[in-house]
Amino acid sequence: MSTGPRTAEEFKGASRWWRTKIFTEIIPSGDGVSDLLDLLSQRAESPYFIIDSALKPQKPFERLFAQPDRYEFDASASEPRTADADKAVSILRSRKKPPDAIIGAGGGGTMDLAKAVSICLVNPCSSAEYQGYGLDMVRGPDIWVLPTLSGTGAEVTPIAVLRGPEKKLGINNNHTAPSVAVIDPGLSAKARKFNRFYTMMDCFFHHYEITKSSTSDPAAVEDSRDGLVIARELLTCGLTDFDTDRAARSAVASVLGGSSSIGGRVGVSHAISYGLSNSSPTLPHSVAVTISMLACGDIYPDGGWDDTVKFLEINGMPRPSAREYGIDETHIELMTKTALGMEKLWLSHFGPDWRRTVTHDFVEDIYKRIVAA
Ligand SMILES: [Zn+2]
Repeated sequence: MSTGPRTAEEFKGASRWWRTKIFTEIIPSGDGVSDLLDLLSQRAESPYFIIDSALKPQKPFERLFAQPDRYEFDASASEPRTADADKAVSILRSRKKPPDAIIGAGGGGTMDLAKAVSICLVNPCSSAEYQGYGLDMVRGPDIWVLPTLSGTGAEVTPIAVLRGPEKKLGINNNHTAPSVAVIDPGLSAKARKFNRFYTMMDCFFHHYEITKSSTSDPAAVEDSRDGLVIARELLTCGLTDFDTDRAARSAVASVLGGSSSIGGRVGVSHAISYGLSNSSPTLPHSVAVTISMLACGDIYPDGGWDDTVKFLEINGMPRPSAREYGIDETHIELMTKTALGMEKLWLSHFGPDWRRTVTHDFVEDIYKRIVAA
Protein backbone atom coordinates (compact mmCIF):
# COMPACT_ATOMS: atom_id res chain seq x y z
CA MET A 1 0.00 0.00 0.00
CA SER A 2 1.33 3.45 -0.91
CA THR A 3 0.93 6.18 1.66
CA GLY A 4 2.28 8.98 -0.51
CA PRO A 5 5.78 10.37 -1.12
CA ARG A 6 8.41 9.11 1.31
CA THR A 7 11.25 11.63 0.92
CA ALA A 8 11.72 15.36 0.42
CA GLU A 9 12.83 14.65 -3.16
CA GLU A 10 9.74 12.54 -3.91
CA PHE A 11 7.54 15.15 -2.26
CA LYS A 12 8.53 17.90 -4.70
CA GLY A 13 7.18 15.95 -7.67
CA ALA A 14 4.27 14.34 -5.88
CA SER A 15 0.74 14.21 -7.21
CA ARG A 16 -2.49 13.49 -5.37
CA TRP A 17 -2.04 11.10 -2.41
CA TRP A 18 -5.46 11.67 -0.83
CA ARG A 19 -8.90 10.35 -1.81
CA THR A 20 -11.29 12.90 -0.30
CA LYS A 21 -12.43 15.74 -2.53
CA ILE A 22 -10.70 18.89 -1.31
CA PHE A 23 -11.20 22.54 -2.32
CA THR A 24 -7.51 23.42 -2.32
CA GLU A 25 -4.90 23.31 -5.07
CA ILE A 26 -1.89 21.67 -3.42
CA ILE A 27 1.50 22.77 -4.73
CA PRO A 28 4.33 20.64 -3.31
CA SER A 29 7.47 22.75 -3.37
CA GLY A 30 11.17 22.72 -2.59
CA ASP A 31 11.34 26.53 -2.46
CA GLY A 32 8.01 27.62 -1.01
CA VAL A 33 8.55 31.37 -0.70
CA SER A 34 9.75 31.77 -4.31
CA ASP A 35 7.00 29.54 -5.70
CA LEU A 36 4.37 31.43 -3.69
CA LEU A 37 5.56 34.86 -4.83
CA ASP A 38 5.94 33.74 -8.47
CA LEU A 39 2.43 32.33 -8.58
CA LEU A 40 0.95 35.36 -6.84
CA SER A 41 2.59 37.66 -9.37
CA GLN A 42 0.70 35.76 -12.09
CA ARG A 43 -2.62 35.36 -10.34
CA ALA A 44 -3.18 38.27 -7.94
CA GLU A 45 -2.96 42.06 -8.26
CA SER A 46 -3.12 43.17 -4.65
CA PRO A 47 -2.14 40.37 -2.28
CA TYR A 48 -2.22 40.95 1.47
CA PHE A 49 0.04 38.89 3.73
CA ILE A 50 -0.71 37.67 7.24
CA ILE A 51 2.57 36.34 8.62
CA ASP A 52 3.59 34.77 11.91
CA SER A 53 5.91 37.40 13.42
CA ALA A 54 8.15 34.66 14.88
CA LEU A 55 9.40 33.93 11.35
CA LYS A 56 10.97 37.38 11.00
CA PRO A 57 14.56 36.45 11.98
CA GLN A 58 14.60 33.48 9.60
CA LYS A 59 16.30 34.11 6.27
CA PRO A 60 13.93 32.08 4.04
CA PHE A 61 11.09 34.44 5.01
CA GLU A 62 12.91 37.75 4.33
CA ARG A 63 11.05 38.34 1.07
CA LEU A 64 7.69 37.95 2.83
CA PHE A 65 8.56 40.53 5.47
CA ALA A 66 9.64 42.88 2.66
CA GLN A 67 6.07 42.90 1.34
CA PRO A 68 4.51 46.31 1.95
CA ASP A 69 1.00 44.98 2.51
CA ARG A 70 1.26 42.71 5.52
CA TYR A 71 -0.05 42.08 9.01
CA GLU A 72 2.37 40.50 11.47
CA PHE A 73 0.59 38.16 13.84
CA ASP A 74 2.21 37.00 17.08
CA ALA A 75 1.04 33.39 16.95
CA SER A 76 3.17 32.33 19.91
CA ALA A 77 1.32 34.72 22.25
CA SER A 78 -2.13 33.29 21.59
CA GLU A 79 -4.22 31.28 19.18
CA PRO A 80 -6.01 33.75 16.90
CA ARG A 81 -8.80 35.67 18.59
CA THR A 82 -11.88 37.22 17.07
CA ALA A 83 -10.31 40.57 18.04
CA ASP A 84 -7.26 39.79 15.85
CA ALA A 85 -9.50 39.06 12.87
CA ASP A 86 -11.57 42.22 13.45
CA LYS A 87 -8.42 44.34 13.71
CA ALA A 88 -6.97 43.08 10.41
CA VAL A 89 -10.36 43.51 8.74
CA SER A 90 -10.65 47.13 9.87
CA ILE A 91 -7.14 47.86 8.54
CA LEU A 92 -8.09 46.38 5.18
CA ARG A 93 -11.42 48.22 5.03
CA SER A 94 -9.66 51.54 5.49
CA ARG A 95 -7.54 50.99 2.38
CA LYS A 96 -8.48 52.28 -1.06
CA LYS A 97 -7.97 49.05 -2.94
CA PRO A 98 -9.33 45.82 -1.46
CA PRO A 99 -6.99 42.81 -1.62
CA ASP A 100 -7.74 40.05 -4.12
CA ALA A 101 -5.77 37.44 -2.16
CA ILE A 102 -5.12 36.95 1.55
CA ILE A 103 -2.03 34.87 2.26
CA GLY A 104 -1.52 33.14 5.60
CA ALA A 105 2.14 32.21 6.19
CA GLY A 106 2.76 30.34 9.42
CA GLY A 107 1.29 27.52 11.49
CA GLY A 108 -2.34 26.51 11.90
CA GLY A 109 -3.27 29.62 13.88
CA THR A 110 -1.89 32.05 11.30
CA MET A 111 -3.54 30.17 8.43
CA ASP A 112 -6.84 30.20 10.31
CA LEU A 113 -6.54 33.94 10.89
CA ALA A 114 -6.03 34.49 7.14
CA LYS A 115 -9.16 32.44 6.42
CA ALA A 116 -11.20 34.41 8.96
CA VAL A 117 -9.99 37.77 7.63
CA SER A 118 -10.84 36.85 4.05
CA ILE A 119 -14.44 35.94 4.78
CA CYS A 120 -15.10 38.60 7.43
CA LEU A 121 -13.82 41.33 5.11
CA VAL A 122 -16.87 40.96 2.88
CA ASN A 123 -19.49 40.15 5.53
CA PRO A 124 -20.90 42.89 7.74
CA CYS A 125 -20.73 41.59 11.33
CA SER A 126 -17.78 41.11 13.66
CA SER A 127 -16.06 37.73 13.44
CA ALA A 128 -17.55 36.42 16.71
CA GLU A 129 -20.99 36.48 15.05
CA TYR A 130 -19.76 34.03 12.45
CA GLN A 131 -18.38 31.36 14.77
CA GLY A 132 -20.51 28.32 13.99
CA TYR A 133 -21.74 26.10 11.18
CA GLY A 134 -23.72 26.65 8.01
CA LEU A 135 -24.12 30.44 8.34
CA ASP A 136 -25.08 32.40 5.28
CA MET A 137 -21.95 34.26 4.19
CA VAL A 138 -20.56 35.57 0.92
CA ARG A 139 -17.13 34.66 -0.41
CA GLY A 140 -14.13 36.89 0.25
CA PRO A 141 -10.77 37.22 -1.55
CA ASP A 142 -8.96 34.00 -2.41
CA ILE A 143 -7.16 32.44 0.52
CA TRP A 144 -3.59 31.26 -0.03
CA VAL A 145 -1.50 29.48 2.58
CA LEU A 146 2.17 28.75 3.14
CA PRO A 147 2.36 26.35 6.11
CA THR A 148 5.51 26.55 8.23
CA LEU A 149 4.49 23.66 10.47
CA SER A 150 3.00 20.35 9.35
CA GLY A 151 0.27 18.40 11.06
CA THR A 152 -2.60 20.80 11.56
CA GLY A 153 -4.25 20.12 8.20
CA ALA A 154 -5.25 23.81 8.22
CA GLU A 155 -3.77 24.15 4.73
CA VAL A 156 -6.78 22.20 3.43
CA THR A 157 -9.69 22.54 5.86
CA PRO A 158 -12.54 25.04 5.46
CA ILE A 159 -12.39 25.92 9.15
CA ALA A 160 -10.99 29.02 10.83
CA VAL A 161 -10.80 28.37 14.57
CA LEU A 162 -10.98 31.54 16.67
CA ARG A 163 -11.05 32.29 20.37
CA GLY A 164 -14.00 34.58 20.93
CA PRO A 165 -15.24 36.51 23.95
CA GLU A 166 -17.64 33.66 24.70
CA LYS A 167 -16.28 30.57 23.05
CA LYS A 168 -13.51 29.01 21.06
CA LEU A 169 -15.14 27.85 17.86
CA GLY A 170 -14.45 27.80 14.14
CA ILE A 171 -16.00 29.77 11.34
CA ASN A 172 -17.05 26.69 9.36
CA ASN A 173 -17.86 27.55 5.78
CA ASN A 174 -16.84 26.29 2.34
CA HIS A 175 -15.67 29.85 1.56
CA THR A 176 -12.99 29.55 4.26
CA ALA A 177 -11.08 26.76 2.50
CA PRO A 178 -7.74 27.87 1.04
CA SER A 179 -7.73 28.07 -2.77
CA VAL A 180 -4.01 27.42 -2.97
CA ALA A 181 -1.55 25.81 -0.55
CA VAL A 182 2.15 26.03 -1.38
CA ILE A 183 3.74 23.37 0.80
CA ASP A 184 7.49 23.36 1.38
CA PRO A 185 8.35 20.97 4.24
CA GLY A 186 11.76 22.63 4.64
CA LEU A 187 10.09 25.78 5.98
CA SER A 188 9.47 24.00 9.29
CA ALA A 189 13.22 23.62 9.91
CA LYS A 190 13.32 26.16 12.73
CA ALA A 191 10.06 25.15 14.43
CA ARG A 192 10.42 24.37 18.13
CA LYS A 193 10.48 20.69 19.06
CA PHE A 194 7.44 21.27 21.31
CA ASN A 195 5.42 22.51 18.34
CA ARG A 196 6.70 19.85 15.95
CA PHE A 197 5.88 17.09 18.43
CA TYR A 198 2.47 18.27 19.60
CA THR A 199 1.25 19.20 16.14
CA MET A 200 2.03 15.69 14.95
CA MET A 201 0.31 14.29 18.06
CA ASP A 202 -2.86 16.15 17.10
CA CYS A 203 -2.49 14.83 13.55
CA PHE A 204 -2.25 11.32 15.05
CA PHE A 205 -5.39 11.87 17.19
CA HIS A 206 -7.37 13.14 14.22
CA HIS A 207 -6.47 10.12 12.12
CA TYR A 208 -6.96 7.67 14.97
CA GLU A 209 -10.37 8.99 16.01
CA ILE A 210 -11.66 9.13 12.42
CA THR A 211 -10.69 5.47 11.92
CA LYS A 212 -12.84 4.69 15.00
CA SER A 213 -15.76 6.83 13.84
CA SER A 214 -19.08 5.40 12.65
CA THR A 215 -20.30 8.60 10.99
CA SER A 216 -17.32 9.42 8.71
CA ASP A 217 -17.28 9.07 4.91
CA PRO A 218 -15.48 5.94 3.67
CA ALA A 219 -12.97 8.06 1.70
CA ALA A 220 -12.16 10.08 4.82
CA VAL A 221 -11.61 6.88 6.81
CA GLU A 222 -9.29 5.57 4.08
CA ASP A 223 -7.28 8.82 4.13
CA SER A 224 -7.09 8.59 7.89
CA ARG A 225 -5.83 5.00 7.77
CA ASP A 226 -2.91 6.19 5.62
CA GLY A 227 -2.36 9.25 7.80
CA LEU A 228 -2.36 7.09 10.91
CA VAL A 229 0.39 4.86 9.50
CA ILE A 230 2.54 7.93 8.78
CA ALA A 231 1.87 9.70 12.10
CA ARG A 232 2.78 6.53 14.01
CA GLU A 233 5.93 6.07 11.94
CA LEU A 234 7.04 9.68 12.66
CA LEU A 235 6.21 9.69 16.37
CA THR A 236 7.95 6.33 16.82
CA CYS A 237 11.13 7.48 15.04
CA GLY A 238 11.09 10.61 17.16
CA LEU A 239 10.71 14.26 16.19
CA THR A 240 13.36 15.73 18.46
CA ASP A 241 15.60 16.90 15.62
CA PHE A 242 14.52 18.34 12.29
CA ASP A 243 15.04 16.01 9.34
CA THR A 244 14.06 16.94 5.76
CA ASP A 245 12.59 13.55 4.83
CA ARG A 246 10.60 13.34 8.06
CA ALA A 247 9.39 16.90 7.44
CA ALA A 248 8.15 15.80 4.00
CA ARG A 249 6.34 12.82 5.58
CA SER A 250 4.80 15.19 8.14
CA ALA A 251 3.51 17.35 5.28
CA VAL A 252 1.99 14.27 3.63
CA ALA A 253 0.24 13.25 6.89
CA SER A 254 -0.92 16.82 7.45
CA VAL A 255 -2.70 17.07 4.09
CA LEU A 256 -4.35 13.70 4.83
CA GLY A 257 -5.40 15.15 8.19
CA GLY A 258 -7.04 18.07 6.43
CA SER A 259 -8.62 15.97 3.68
CA SER A 260 -9.96 13.35 6.10
CA SER A 261 -11.48 15.96 8.38
CA ILE A 262 -13.63 17.28 5.51
CA GLY A 263 -15.73 14.10 5.44
CA GLY A 264 -14.61 12.65 8.74
CA ARG A 265 -15.48 13.23 12.37
CA VAL A 266 -13.16 13.02 15.31
CA GLY A 267 -14.36 11.58 18.61
CA VAL A 268 -14.09 11.45 22.36
CA SER A 269 -10.73 13.01 23.16
CA HIS A 270 -11.58 15.98 20.94
CA ALA A 271 -14.98 16.39 22.63
CA ILE A 272 -13.25 16.41 26.02
CA SER A 273 -10.52 18.77 24.79
CA TYR A 274 -13.02 21.53 23.99
CA GLY A 275 -14.06 21.74 27.63
CA LEU A 276 -10.40 22.09 28.61
CA SER A 277 -9.66 24.70 25.93
CA ASN A 278 -12.61 26.83 26.97
CA SER A 279 -11.36 26.89 30.56
CA SER A 280 -7.78 27.88 29.77
CA PRO A 281 -6.79 30.59 27.28
CA THR A 282 -3.16 29.41 27.32
CA LEU A 283 -3.74 25.72 26.62
CA PRO A 284 -2.82 24.81 23.01
CA HIS A 285 -5.37 22.60 21.24
CA SER A 286 -2.89 19.78 20.61
CA VAL A 287 -1.89 19.63 24.30
CA ALA A 288 -5.57 19.67 25.33
CA VAL A 289 -6.28 16.63 23.16
CA THR A 290 -3.23 14.83 24.56
CA ILE A 291 -4.40 15.47 28.13
CA SER A 292 -7.86 14.19 27.14
CA MET A 293 -6.52 11.03 25.50
CA LEU A 294 -4.47 10.25 28.61
CA ALA A 295 -7.77 10.12 30.56
CA CYS A 296 -9.51 7.92 27.94
CA GLY A 297 -7.62 4.65 28.44
CA ASP A 298 -10.89 2.72 28.84
CA ILE A 299 -12.43 4.24 25.69
CA TYR A 300 -9.37 4.02 23.43
CA PRO A 301 -7.35 1.09 24.81
CA ASP A 302 -6.12 -0.20 21.44
CA GLY A 303 -3.53 2.18 20.09
CA GLY A 304 -4.97 5.49 21.26
CA TRP A 305 -4.04 5.67 24.91
CA ASP A 306 -1.06 3.30 24.89
CA ASP A 307 0.53 4.90 21.81
CA THR A 308 0.11 8.34 23.37
CA VAL A 309 2.05 7.20 26.44
CA LYS A 310 4.70 5.60 24.23
CA PHE A 311 5.12 8.64 21.94
CA LEU A 312 5.58 10.96 24.92
CA GLU A 313 8.30 8.66 26.27
CA ILE A 314 10.11 8.13 22.96
CA ASN A 315 10.22 11.88 22.34
CA GLY A 316 11.34 12.71 25.88
CA MET A 317 8.26 14.80 26.63
CA PRO A 318 6.73 14.90 30.13
CA ARG A 319 3.07 14.00 30.46
CA PRO A 320 1.15 17.27 30.24
CA SER A 321 -1.30 18.10 33.00
CA ALA A 322 -4.35 20.35 33.06
CA ARG A 323 -3.18 21.96 36.29
CA GLU A 324 -0.11 23.41 34.55
CA TYR A 325 -2.62 25.43 32.53
CA GLY A 326 -4.63 26.64 35.51
CA ILE A 327 -7.44 24.07 35.34
CA ASP A 328 -8.74 22.60 38.61
CA GLU A 329 -11.89 21.20 40.32
CA THR A 330 -13.70 24.53 40.02
CA HIS A 331 -13.82 24.15 36.22
CA ILE A 332 -15.33 20.65 36.12
CA GLU A 333 -18.99 21.62 35.87
CA LEU A 334 -18.50 24.11 33.05
CA MET A 335 -16.16 21.75 31.16
CA THR A 336 -18.74 18.94 31.49
CA LYS A 337 -21.43 21.19 30.05
CA THR A 338 -19.21 22.26 27.13
CA ALA A 339 -18.22 18.68 26.27
CA LEU A 340 -21.80 17.37 26.48
CA GLY A 341 -22.68 19.92 23.80
CA MET A 342 -20.32 18.28 21.28
CA GLU A 343 -23.10 15.94 20.11
CA LYS A 344 -21.66 15.13 16.69
CA LEU A 345 -18.42 13.90 18.22
CA TRP A 346 -20.17 11.60 20.73
CA LEU A 347 -22.36 10.31 17.90
CA SER A 348 -19.24 9.71 15.83
CA HIS A 349 -17.77 7.39 18.45
CA PHE A 350 -20.74 5.79 20.22
CA GLY A 351 -23.36 5.79 17.45
CA PRO A 352 -27.03 6.81 17.63
CA ASP A 353 -27.51 5.56 21.21
CA TRP A 354 -24.63 7.66 22.53
CA ARG A 355 -26.78 9.30 25.20
CA ARG A 356 -27.07 5.99 27.03
CA THR A 357 -23.31 5.99 27.65
CA VAL A 358 -22.45 9.67 27.63
CA THR A 359 -24.25 10.91 30.73
CA HIS A 360 -23.35 13.91 32.84
CA ASP A 361 -21.60 11.58 35.33
CA PHE A 362 -19.66 9.83 32.58
CA VAL A 363 -18.17 13.10 31.31
CA GLU A 364 -17.68 14.52 34.81
CA ASP A 365 -15.69 11.41 35.77
CA ILE A 366 -13.31 11.96 32.87
CA TYR A 367 -12.65 15.56 34.01
CA LYS A 368 -12.23 14.39 37.61
CA ARG A 369 -9.50 12.03 36.41
CA ILE A 370 -7.93 14.84 34.41
CA VAL A 371 -7.67 17.33 37.27
CA ALA A 372 -6.48 14.59 39.65
CA ALA A 373 -3.64 13.54 37.29
ZN1 LIG B 1 -7.32 18.32 16.93
